[in-house]
Amino acid sequence: MDTDERPAYVPPVETYQCCHCGGGGLDSHGETCEHCEGLGFC
Ligand SMILES: [Zn+2]
Ligand SMILES: [Zn+2]
Repeated sequence: MDTDERPAYVPPVETYQCCHCGGGGLDSHGETCEHCEGLGFC
């Protein structure tokens, strides 16, 4: 998803786990994942 608009809903997930943080929403430093903005999916 390369959109500036963030969905206001939580999609029915586990299907699009972020390839960067693995779906946790946090990077290796415990910071919000820049790839998914902490959403855990992309
Ligand atoms: Zn990703
Ligand atoms: Zn991520």
